[in-house]
Amino acid sequence: MRTNTGYAMDLRIGNGYDVHQLSDGLPLILGGVRIPHTQGCVAHSDGDVLIHALCDALLGALALGDIGQHFPDTSDDFKGIDSRILLDKVCGMVSQKGYRIVNVDCTVLAQKPKLAPYIVPMREELARVMSLPVGNVSVKATTTERLGFVGRCEGIAVYATALLEKDC
Ligand code: MG
Repeated sequence: MRTNTGYAMDLRIGNGYDVHQLSDGLPLILGGVRIPHTQGCVAHSDGDVLIHALCDALLGALALGDIGQHFPDTSDDFKGIDSRILLDKVCGMVSQKGYRIVNVDCTVLAQKPKLAPYIVPMREELARVMSLPVGNVSVKATTTERLGFVGRCEGIAVYATALLEKDC
């Protein structure tokens, strides 16, 4: 694609979606940030559902499958793993294919807890791991007005979108 600046750019977009069940007494980690709450995500890894959706968006942009193919939850290698390590590995795949991340946008669906105080820390931590300016990393949060599994506090869902670019 030729941009209005005259440079030829190869652009790729990807989306990701993930859901984790909530259970009492587990740590809640979103976007690499530990969030005080009575419940946390049930998972083979640290349960960072935000990072998992983001990894799937990046992998989707590269048409490289999904996080489960690269980091299977049947492998002891990934048991309890800090999901920031997975995101770092996926960023390595982006670089290896010659792409740079332009921006990412994530929407967390959670009834509880209130995530507003943690939005900036999550953006800063994700930006740090991806070596991006924080202005290129968006995290938004919404409830589902008490509807569905999210509204009943049975789980947290995350949608993520990522845009990649490469000089060509
Ligand atoms: Mg997951």
